[in-house]
Amino acid sequence: MSEPEGAWALLTPEELAWKETCRAFAEEVIRPAAPVCDRENRFPAEVHEAAWARGLMHPCLPRALGGGGRSWRSLAVGGEELAAVCAPTAFTLGFNHGALRPVLHAGDEAQRARFVTDLLARRGYASLCLTEPDASGSNLLAVRALARADGDGWVLSGTKCMVGNGTVAELFLVLADTEERGRRRGPSFFAVPRGPGVRIGPNTDKLGFRCVPTPTVAFEDVRLDAGCLVGAPGQAEQVLLETLDFIRFGGAAVILGIVVGALRDLVPWLEARRVAPDEPLVAKSDVQLTLGGLYAEVQAVRLLMWRAADLLDQGRPCATETAAAKYLASELAVRATNACAQLYGWRGVDGDWPAAKRLRDARATTIYEGTSQVQQLGLARALRRSVRAGGWL
Ligand SMILES: Cc1cc2nc3c(=O)[nH]c(=O)nc-3n(C[C@H](O)[C@H](O)[C@H](O)COP(=O)(O)OP(=O)(O)OC[C@H]3O[C@@H](n4cnc5c(N)ncnc54)[C@H](O)[C@@H]3O)c2cc1C
Repeated sequence: MSEPEGAWALLTPEELAWKETCRAFAEEVIRPAAPVCDRENRFPAEVHEAAWARGLMHPCLPRALGGGGRSWRSLAVGGEELAAVCAPTAFTLGFNHGALRPVLHAGDEAQRARFVTDLLARRGYASLCLTEPDASGSNLLAVRALARADGDGWVLSGTKCMVGNGTVAELFLVLADTEERGRRRGPSFFAVPRGPGVRIGPNTDKLGFRCVPTPTVAFEDVRLDAGCLVGAPGQAEQVLLETLDFIRFGGAAVILGIVVGALRDLVPWLEARRVAPDEPLVAKSDVQLTLGGLYAEVQAVRLLMWRAADLLDQGRPCATETAAAKYLASELAVRATNACAQLYGWRGVDGDWPAAKRLRDARATTIYEGTSQVQQLGLARALRRSVRAGGWL
């Protein structure tokens, strides 16, 4: 590999080495497994086994809790490399960072030890249970799941759907309304271990992101001790917003990887493919205009993501940056994979070529972690606040 150019020169030697480690792992381990897990609609267990064995899991969780202690920019850089080969596999590998966020952000020391350190030591997985089948996933505070105070603990009932990594998870971070002495207190977060009353369905049959198991999980009168409540009762809104800001950062990295992988495959093919009057397809000016436009967008989204990573490393707010990065990355992924499919001709829709899978995977990205419309609405609110305040616009 040549010396880092342009924005890559901003990375530290450790971050660059991590990028190469992730790229090599993606080529060697993820590439052969990805089409199989996609076809079989299953969690990529063989990839996870190799990632645990090589110390690649949880690179950016605190060392004190069992993580690798790397910078958040490392998550963006590594996630992009893993996702360049298979975005849904990268999602499954990195998801504990996001699912455990409520405990990391609002939990106390005992909860971090119980729900993070112990989980990682057992090589376990956590899931984030926000979306419900009957309530709008965009309007998360309108949850119907309910936890009633009972003795010195809680009893939780409700159903969550599209629970990422849900079939393998042994801990569920559940957003539920809270009731104490017959009075509704508003939504709270609960850390719910897999156990009696937790019913986990099979993976759903999705168009894309098929190897991310997203079952429906029902909580049927699940008894929870007092230590399972994360943060104060009825005060989940801030924890939820912080968690969403964070998962959109990881999401953007994975989504941008789809575009990077698509372009890495496409360019050599365009250089080799000859079209009338016998010249490489890449010589056509409309093809070059497409490539140049996509390259500009990749660089812009990457820098926005790294800015969000630096803010996260400094413990500063990054809602605008992560919403913008996730929104731009997912809209770009849909357009870029569509353009690639067209340029490949029949290969763009043939299941044996990676372009068709990328097109399917990209389609899911404008929906999860908040739809594009939800990001736009949040960004519009931020814009109006900024203008009213006299404007760091
Ligand atoms: C691959 C994948 C993985 C996922 N993983 C998880 C997970 O791990 N945990 C979890 O909890 N959920 C998960 N989800 C669910 C996802 O977060 C929700 O699907 C998403 O937030 C949208 O919610 P909804 O599907 O209920 O759509 P709705 O909220 O019902 O929205 C339907 C449509 O209305 C639009 N809309 C909604 N509100 C407004 C508004 N105010 N103004 C204008 N338009 C609006 C939306 O943009 C959308 O187009 C996952 C989804 C996918 C596809």
